[in-house]
Amino acid sequence: MKILAIHADFIEFMAKKKAFKGAEEGVEKGHKDKVEECLVIFTAIEKRDESDLNGVLKRYLQEIANIAQQVNAQSIVLYPYAHLSSSLSNPKIAEQLMKDAEQELKKKFNVSRAPFGWYKSFNISCKGHPLSELSREFGLEEETPKKAEKKEVNLKREYKDESFKFNQESLSEEQKIKLTSAYLLASVLKDMEPNIKIGSAGFYHDQAYIDISGIKLQQNNFPRLEKELLNNLSKKFELGGELQDDLQQNILLDLGEKASTYNIDNITVVPLFKEPFISPESIKAVKILNIASAYWKNNQNNQQLTRINLVAFDSEEKLQTYLKRQEEAEARSHLKIGKEQNLFVNSELVGAGLPLLTPKGMILRCEIENFLWDLHKNRGYSRVWTPHITKPGLYKTSGHWDKFGEELFKVQGKTEQFVMKPMNCPHHMQIFDSFSFSYRDMPVRYFEPATVYRDEKSGSLVGMSRVRAITQDDGHLFCRLSQITEETEKIIEIVLEFYKAIGMHDYWVSLSVRGDDKSKYLGSDDVWEKGEAALKKAADNKNLPYKRIEGEAAFYGPKLDFMFKDSMDREWQLATIQCDFNMPERFDLSFMNEESKKERPVVMHRAISGSIERFMSVIIEHFAGKFPLWLSPVQVKVVTITDRNLEFAKEVVSKMKANDIRVELDDRSESMGKKVRDAQLEQVNYIVTIGDKEQENKTLAVRKRTGEQEFGVAVDRFILKLKDEILSRSLR
Ligand SMILES: [Zn+2]
Repeated sequence: MKILAIHADFIEFMAKKKAFKGAEEGVEKGHKDKVEECLVIFTAIEKRDESDLNGVLKRYLQEIANIAQQVNAQSIVLYPYAHLSSSLSNPKIAEQLMKDAEQELKKKFNVSRAPFGWYKSFNISCKGHPLSELSREFGLEEETPKKAEKKEVNLKREYKDESFKFNQESLSEEQKIKLTSAYLLASVLKDMEPNIKIGSAGFYHDQAYIDISGIKLQQNNFPRLEKELLNNLSKKFELGGELQDDLQQNILLDLGEKASTYNIDNITVVPLFKEPFISPESIKAVKILNIASAYWKNNQNNQQLTRINLVAFDSEEKLQTYLKRQEEAEARSHLKIGKEQNLFVNSELVGAGLPLLTPKGMILRCEIENFLWDLHKNRGYSRVWTPHITKPGLYKTSGHWDKFGEELFKVQGKTEQFVMKPMNCPHHMQIFDSFSFSYRDMPVRYFEPATVYRDEKSGSLVGMSRVRAITQDDGHLFCRLSQITEETEKIIEIVLEFYKAIGMHDYWVSLSVRGDDKSKYLGSDDVWEKGEAALKKAADNKNLPYKRIEGEAAFYGPKLDFMFKDSMDREWQLATIQCDFNMPERFDLSFMNEESKKERPVVMHRAISGSIERFMSVIIEHFAGKFPLWLSPVQVKVVTITDRNLEFAKEVVSKMKANDIRVELDDRSESMGKKVRDAQLEQVNYIVTIGDKEQENKTLAVRKRTGEQEFGVAVDRFILKLKDEILSRSLR
């Protein structure tokens, strides 16, 4: 649709003759009309508008209302004006849309409409002030709506080179040992293969890596390389040297003046860090862990390099400790435990990255979801629900169409095309937009654990941690700029209470703000400064251990990202609280303020667990499958010693079930020892054995997962104790 809005002293028009046979009926030839002090909306409805007439009508009404408010006009003249476009819609559709708009606008304005499909003559006197002539173009087939184009930020997922950045932070001794080893390895490889080229070296978690081009390595080469490296510890690392390698020259170009070149015997390199090296003599143990491939500058269109991951230490013991921990991590792998405890399965018929939850896995998930909702329901949140497919227009308006690109799953209906949703935010915006809220209703808070779908590359899919159907414990709240601090504090409370129950006490928070290049961010400086200050204040008030990190903000607003450490000391980015100044703009959201004027809300995105699938994989490993009672799929296993005890055992089981305790009865004709061992392998929290003595006294023999035992426990007392432990979400 194209419109031209003229704020006029008057317009006078006359219907001269029908332009085509189907022109609007009931219009008298020669009929004249004159409207004074009005806003004239010359309108052309286009072919592309037919795909979403309701959406276009809504935008049309919004635009008119906005302009009328700006110029303070009470009278509107809708004027069909075909000359604005060369691709007009079906006339019947266009006529109806104009009539619908007329009806709607009459609720607020004096409205006149010029006849549709007639040749008309007109006389108009334009007021000539700066806002008196405005044009708008919109339609859902467009890439992005005009509103959001005021400032260009590229959302497209393109394969672009990532520039190397110089890292100002000082490295720890341990890091220096690893990085020195990585470059030393490159020098050793260059001795063996003079044609190789050396890329960048850096860190991934507690490992170092170095990228090499033109080399083929296999796992059975690793021991020889490690030995060779340790034989070359006398190589000198010296500042200066001339770069022969185009990859290194490229790195230097990216890093600029801050970077230094180093000569290491047969190679000259540009590290990404200041003071990166340590005397090679302090390297006492090296282990090459694995190789992977990496694209030069992280761009799929570039050449592939071999990425060598390694660790190095100043003592052999440290290496052994490291390797032991790695082993432990493997034993805790959620893939392994998920299988042992029957938590989830994969099916080739269903597809990769689409794990299915078994009854036990579903218990775990429901407990997480229920807890999350418990934490929200008394803090003003309402639950909402949104469908899994949607018309593409929604994501074109929100910008996700470009952002997700190839990752969108498209669904072809009989006549219409849909996409599986990659994000829930735009849906929640639509719910907000369907109401007319006033400042008294703010903040408005929605909560929905909702599944989104993204076509991740099949090579990157892992168990529950990297999947194609991702359930976010999603929520959005709509508030005023002045309410950000208070709302953020409430979310922080939820985050901290949640992770306390999970037993993750060690964390830090990134206060992610804008970097130097302000053109990368949408929204005015004023709004950004207020938003950043509001988040900082909330972080201060709640005594969060936070670091202000520049350049880490989203393009749409500043955020707080929470990094929690698990029981293996591994750090996970889980919860997030984000301000968004862009989406309310894109969807033209508003509420009425105290002066009865439209005010734009701020949207806050928040996720507590992040994605529930990934969170499940994290806590399976964090607890090593030994879940606290409230999370455990099987809380109690009742084991009979002989068949004589079956009746009492069944009585105990049904009493526990009546008290919502997840209990299983093992009445197999196996030995008690075997049954107890099996229950231990399952990591059941309590094993209750019932023999003749227990039956006679109507008591239980209770064995904790830790091995402690108690005899002669009264059934009711045991049940009460369990209920208390579950309700308090105790970590015992
Ligand atoms: Zn969101």
